[in-house]
Amino acid sequence: MSTSRKIPFFDYPKLFLDQKEELTKVFEEVGSRGAYIMQQDLVNFEKRLSGYINSNYAIGVGNATDGLELAWLAIGLKKGDEVIISSHTMVATASAIVTAGGTPVPVDIGDDNLIDPEAILSAITKNTVGISPTQLNGRTCKMDLILDIAKKHGLKVVEDSAQALGSKYKGKNAGTFGDAASFSFFPAKVLGCFGDGGGVVTNDKEIYEKIFQLHDHGRDTHGEIKSWGRNSRLDNLQAAFLNKKFETYDEVILRRREIANIYDSRLSILEELTLPPAPSIDTDHFDVYQNYEFQAKNRNGLRDSLLKNGIGTLIQWGGKGIHQWEVLGFNVRLPRTEKFFDNCLMIPINMFITDEDAHYVCDKIIEFYRSK
Ligand SMILES: *Cc1c(COP(=O)(O)O)cnc(C)c1O
Repeated sequence: MSTSRKIPFFDYPKLFLDQKEELTKVFEEVGSRGAYIMQQDLVNFEKRLSGYINSNYAIGVGNATDGLELAWLAIGLKKGDEVIISSHTMVATASAIVTAGGTPVPVDIGDDNLIDPEAILSAITKNTVGISPTQLNGRTCKMDLILDIAKKHGLKVVEDSAQALGSKYKGKNAGTFGDAASFSFFPAKVLGCFGDGGGVVTNDKEIYEKIFQLHDHGRDTHGEIKSWGRNSRLDNLQAAFLNKKFETYDEVILRRREIANIYDSRLSILEELTLPPAPSIDTDHFDVYQNYEFQAKNRNGLRDSLLKNGIGTLIQWGGKGIHQWEVLGFNVRLPRTEKFFDNCLMIPINMFITDEDAHYVCDKIIEFYRSK
């Protein structure tokens, strides 16, 4: 029996406290320069982001949802245009399409719990203009299949890469497959800042220029107004914090993969669980484990039991697929997604989890099923 511990699902104070001195220095330095909006730290961060994933352009924006919306606006979504998405995603993937003027069409997941290419094919109509696959939990979809479909049907692709900075498929980074992609720097994301933040990336110069204008009052990079726009910029201060966090980002990914390995090695003996793929299991995917999400028999019982043992868990997104929010106007059944949400649970995975914490979580999960 391991002794009792307290393991929150995500320790928000630690995001700051673990690097308090360095981060305070960043604030002092940026504050003393008075560098708040569209300053050098932001330019440096955008360079760093595009360099890291190997895209031609990156623009810091207010949050990843804005990034998705700006990408669709730049592509020129029109009323009645349909964009196919996975129902297994955050509402943001869908709402960005709606606020850009289009119609999201949620489809079912495949065996990997990501958007099912077969389901995409069946959902294509004469109004379909795009696909917005979500690179979920730090895993990139089988993008070659999705890009084949897009090419054959003349569809645009905007990746929701909010959870997938550094994730790769066949050696290529999430965010570089489609016409554009969006990353999130929400505090609990793999690369988190101290509030809202996002980055939109593209290899297309025209899309870059349009997004740039849209995110800064319609102004181009020289400050000249070229169109209507809005204000959705990444704060220079947040960019400066992110530059600091970026210095150790490869270690973050490594550590998340280590924890995933511990979970996999300990929990794979339980037939009550369906685990995500282990870090080493196939060479096509390089996963960054934004989340460690499994499907569990008696999921609610397990969640309650872990909570009693001080372990925070999460049933993601209110426990429903996008299409199950009837208030949003959907009226379809997607059985695999619905089954997934009936059984899914996330256990803590982040920089604050020690090996001992991970083993404690495993002990408590194994105890729960073995004491039955
Ligand atoms: C977090 C998240 C978003 C939204 O990111 P924000 O920066 O909070 O707007 C979108 N899609 C997915 C899959 C996410 O996990």
